[in-house]
Amino acid sequence: MSNQIPVKQVDPNPSDNNKNPGTYDLYESREKIYVKEVKGLFQRIRNVSLVALMGMYFVFAWLTLDGQPLIHFDLPAREFHLYGMTFYPKDFFLLSAMLIISAFGLFFITTLFGRVWCGYTCPQTVWTFIFMWIEEKVEGNRNKRIKLDKAPNSAEKITKKTIKHALWLFVALATGITFIGYFYPIRELIVDMFTLQANGWAYFWVGFFTVATYLNAGWMREQVCLYMCPYARFQSVMFDENTRIVSYDPNRGEPRGKRKKGVEPSEVGLGDCIDCEQCVQVCPTGIDIRDGLQYECIGCALCIDACDEIMEKMDYPKGLIRYTTENELEGKTSKLLRPRTFGYGLLLAVMIGAVGYIIGTRVPAKLEVIRDRGALFKFNGEGRVENSFTLKLQNMTEVPQTFVLSVEGMEGIRILTQTSVKIKSGENLSLPTVVDVIPESIEQTNNTISFRAVSKTDPSLELETESRFVGPRPR
Ligand code: SF4
Ligand code: SF4
Repeated sequence: MSNQIPVKQVDPNPSDNNKNPGTYDLYESREKIYVKEVKGLFQRIRNVSLVALMGMYFVFAWLTLDGQPLIHFDLPAREFHLYGMTFYPKDFFLLSAMLIISAFGLFFITTLFGRVWCGYTCPQTVWTFIFMWIEEKVEGNRNKRIKLDKAPNSAEKITKKTIKHALWLFVALATGITFIGYFYPIRELIVDMFTLQANGWAYFWVGFFTVATYLNAGWMREQVCLYMCPYARFQSVMFDENTRIVSYDPNRGEPRGKRKKGVEPSEVGLGDCIDCEQCVQVCPTGIDIRDGLQYECIGCALCIDACDEIMEKMDYPKGLIRYTTENELEGKTSKLLRPRTFGYGLLLAVMIGAVGYIIGTRVPAKLEVIRDRGALFKFNGEGRVENSFTLKLQNMTEVPQTFVLSVEGMEGIRILTQTSVKIKSGENLSLPTVVDVIPESIEQTNNTISFRAVSKTDPSLELETESRFVGPRPR
């Protein structure tokens, strides 16, 4: 049985002398965090993930497949176009199943590797890192930014701040337009917006997402993770002593202390930590990983890169801060497969299999048959027995389909009305249909018949639905 590992609540501002030691004021004002740029393996991994995710976000809104948008949530038509498939409100259980799969996927990964989602792929992290990159390019490195903020207003300061905020707003506006572009065809949206032809809701939502992006990634940053994101609060439930998380190795690092380069730690009675605080200066949430696991830690691993750089300079082995487990820190072995990971993994595999099967076997068209309840049957001019129906055809594919209609189940049964019908993508069609048979083929009053609709456009699209043909009592 695995145990949870404790998540510490560490005073974020221990230098405040007006407080009792250990107290934590929920309402204290935010201290701006000046994050130092760092280069290293984990920063490179995040850059790759950031470019890939941003690329997908900004490009996918423009892509089409067979003339239809690759991803388009058409709310007025209640159609959701995803990768060449169209989903309707009745398919919402699939959407729910996908959300449940995502949640279990997140639990599974978190149990194994901690908050890698937060550190590498969460939109809040991705956009914050882009905004921080812009800030660094415009205002300079950490020291220059601190100096600039403390300096009185000057032409240089105002110019730099204006350029930074203009670039932030540009990225935020592009984000807002792209987001709404998944709901409103993006080419039309851009033309309509800039010619003032778009409807009021389009302006409202683009404005809303622009402001939300600008505030979240530019101003609030770690505050969103610390105070608004519920996931940070329940992460500890999923961590155990075998979860691989970013950790400082106190056995190796303590006692910490400054020393000159080239001095062996044992010579001065110290551990490997030179107390340079680089790991704190690069931390986007401003915490000190040496205080242990804290809920503020988003698992971005920037402190690993910073500390590895220091260890390299000191000629000490890297990995004083590293991805490791509580067990390994205590000299025990870690288990990858344990009841919790096995449980999440199994559930995930079953749900992915079930949803994959449902989507793979889903027929993107529908045929319903409704008997005309007004008259059971009638004899027509040819002396044959006639029944009336309404065929309801739905085309859920991305292209128009021409269906050829037929009926079978009784000798000589035929459709008297239209036997070929063209239906646009996403269209629902009601088709009044009359069917007749010769009286001699009626052996009972209630007869099972089958209507078939086969697409000429895609012959693999075959629909069949049973109904009843009612005739006079046979003599
Ligand atoms: S970067 Fe490494 S050496 Fe420097 S304070 Fe942090 S843990 Fe210690
Ligand atoms: S402690 Fe390290 S891993 Fe955690 S948020 Fe700070 S820099 Fe990232």
